[in-house]
Amino acid sequence: QESWTSDSSDSVISSGSDSEDQLFKVILLGEHGVGKSSLARIFGGVEDLQDVDCFIFPGNTYDRSIVVDGEEASLLVFDIWEQDDNHWLHNQCMKMGDAYVIVYSVTDKASFEKASELRIQLRRARQSEDIPIILVGNKSDLVRSREVSVEEGRACAVVFDCKFIETSAALHHNVKDLFEGIVRQIRLRKDSKED
Ligand code: GDP
Ligand code: MG
Repeated sequence: QESWTSDSSDSVISSGSDSEDQLFKVILLGEHGVGKSSLARIFGGVEDLQDVDCFIFPGNTYDRSIVVDGEEASLLVFDIWEQDDNHWLHNQCMKMGDAYVIVYSVTDKASFEKASELRIQLRRARQSEDIPIILVGNKSDLVRSREVSVEEGRACAVVFDCKFIETSAALHHNVKDLFEGIVRQIRLRKDSKED
């Protein structure tokens, strides 16, 4: 199903000159099947082909500008974590992000535990850096098969010192808030650095 690739890999550069420092690399992490690609596709507007502002790159990377609090920001969202079980790729992912989205499914306890593991890995890879991380409990629409409560998710985020949101890619619920939240987190850190 994921046939959204194109040859225009070099057009990454063409997304504007003065907005360059506003291009943020966001990496999606998480177990297979939790909904990473679904969230990324919604962000990329792939389900809405009318949207000409959206470019799709090979390796399932989505480039899109969004206006948050009256200011434009460009996000480059990478859905490449699972491309293969490649150690090199995983190391790159841990190094290259300006922000991370760690996704689990609220219907899958094991994916929740994996999310904690990923958080620890990330901390190890980026020791002294204060990178924005958002823990995402996806599939909140599947009420009957829920295995992880909102409280558990929230508590985990407190322990891991990151933001938390529950989403439903199926219902498009909170997906916009998720990506806007990332931009706000990145900006907060930039502002406090400049003071
Ligand atoms: P990935 O492996 O993390 O990229 O997960 P996918 O985005 O491929 O999603 C895996 C499966 O879960 C697909 O069948 C999706 O349709 C389904 N899925 C993803 N998000 C949701 C959601 O929020 N609710 C429900 N009910 N299904 C979802
Ligand atoms: Mg996927």
